[in-house]
Amino acid sequence: MPRRSARTAAPVRYQVQVDDLHAHLFRVTLTIAQPQAEQHVALPVWIPGSYLVREFSRHLQQLQARQGRRTLTPVQLDKCRWQIACDPQQPLALSYRVYAFDASVRTAWLDAARGFFNGTSLCLRVEGQEDAPHELELLPAGSPADWRVATGLPALQVDRRGFGRYQASDYDELVDCPFEFGAFWQGRFKAGGAEHEFVVAGAPPSFDGARLLADAQRICDTAIRFWHAGGRSGGRAGKPPFPRYVFLLNATDDGYGGLEHRNSTALACARRDLPRLGSKPGEGYTTLLGLISHEYFHTWNVKRLRPADFTRYDYTRENYTGLLWFFEGYTSYYDDLLLRRAGLLDDATYLRLLNKSINQLQQTPGRLLQSVAQASFDAWVKYYRADENTPNATVSYYGKGALVALCMDLTLRAEGPHTLDDVMRGLWQRCQAGPMREDDLLAVLQELSGRSWARELRRWVHGTGELPLQELLERHGVSVQEEPAQLAQRLGLRVSETGGTVQIKTVLRGGAAEQAGLAAGDECLGVEVGSGMARSSWRLRKLDDLLLYAGEQPRVQVLVARDQRLLQLKLTVPRAATTWRLALRDKLPLARWLAP
Ligand SMILES: [Zn+2]
Repeated sequence: MPRRSARTAAPVRYQVQVDDLHAHLFRVTLTIAQPQAEQHVALPVWIPGSYLVREFSRHLQQLQARQGRRTLTPVQLDKCRWQIACDPQQPLALSYRVYAFDASVRTAWLDAARGFFNGTSLCLRVEGQEDAPHELELLPAGSPADWRVATGLPALQVDRRGFGRYQASDYDELVDCPFEFGAFWQGRFKAGGAEHEFVVAGAPPSFDGARLLADAQRICDTAIRFWHAGGRSGGRAGKPPFPRYVFLLNATDDGYGGLEHRNSTALACARRDLPRLGSKPGEGYTTLLGLISHEYFHTWNVKRLRPADFTRYDYTRENYTGLLWFFEGYTSYYDDLLLRRAGLLDDATYLRLLNKSINQLQQTPGRLLQSVAQASFDAWVKYYRADENTPNATVSYYGKGALVALCMDLTLRAEGPHTLDDVMRGLWQRCQAGPMREDDLLAVLQELSGRSWARELRRWVHGTGELPLQELLERHGVSVQEEPAQLAQRLGLRVSETGGTVQIKTVLRGGAAEQAGLAAGDECLGVEVGSGMARSSWRLRKLDDLLLYAGEQPRVQVLVARDQRLLQLKLTVPRAATTWRLALRDKLPLARWLAP
């Protein structure tokens, strides 16, 4: 994207305030001190970290332009871009409203309970002035009296509650610092000498904030030691590449998600997954800690060390990279591993989580069609636009990418003194915490291990063959056993079972369900078993009930509803399908692997 540098350092100024809580509208005023005669402004079509064109401009309304008392007419150029003809000698003021009612971490939210926004949803980009300083003033008008503000953006002049002026060095920083405001829970801790702030919106009265803070601190200390401790030689941990970090967590009934930023992260979780006073946290809390660990690791791996394709974001279109298997996959490998190292998981739980990701990969026929490098490039139209065919057409660069990291780590550990930790730190040094290419990874691997890794990358990253997981795990104290698969997996199906109906979500490529002619969307109503006088028909409320009626009979008739027609389909139930079960065989090699 061509880009003219700013004529002077006059900041681009935004004023943001609540327009109407109940209409979910923000009001934004943008002042351009030194506009161009034909000034262009545009809203991003995507937010970095979430690889989908979302066209945030669909929620922008009532754009008006003024110079002094003169009203100007913005001309819309395309779905997200406007042109304003104006006097370049005078400041240009634009005002507009933005509808904000998406509870995800990617856009904006406003109601009587809280406000949240990313700059990509609210702040028009002033073309030609992206590199000038940007100022955002959050006005308290319209917000309830008990609301406070949290953001990673440095404050310039704010009141006790955090309302006031914030400054970014450029547009990229402005839109990389989401804002949360409301009557949230707030706590603080220090890790690696940096101030960390943790904000939780929507927490129930039973919320155990002290527990969450203590566990988050352990995660942050472990991650900072990982990146800055200098490996097995020990030594003092260095400082993280930020003086202050902010976690913005929003708890809702069934939320889940996270988005990484340079010195903050926006997180969403289910309220029941928060730790509670006086009770032992469950599996959901482990998932939340994994999310915290994942997004925090991204502060190094993708926000600083990042694909060379992301050296400069283009906010007007898709930004392709073939490296998401590294940036998302390796981050996924380390999110749980660092929980283990921080003492927040035991070995058995760690192996159970790993077991789950291996079985997920093996139940994805798309792994035989697309490599993880292709899946990365295609993220914009495949992974982020998942449908009933996604498991047949692509592979998760998170899931398989994490297992590629596992294979690389276990191979390095089997061959010599180095580990994947050394590779990550080597890349951080080599690329000076900036843009990287796949060649940089190959170079660091070569340097550390004294041999080429081109063959592994060709097979594991650019190929569609199976990963050598079993052999590597067994070398490191983990035995791999096979156990009978669940019925849905044996049939090659993914179903949802709600309110006593069994509905087919996905028919997996090459499975028994596909051969029988079952299709996504079908409702499985019943099953007929036996023949002649012994024939009987049964209603199905759960898929597994099929075994209750069919027993060991391999051939049954299933009755399904599709487009209001009833169909009888011949289904053969395969016996042989199995899944993996990982078990701890030898504590010592496992302990060595899980250690730094
Ligand atoms: Zn991620």
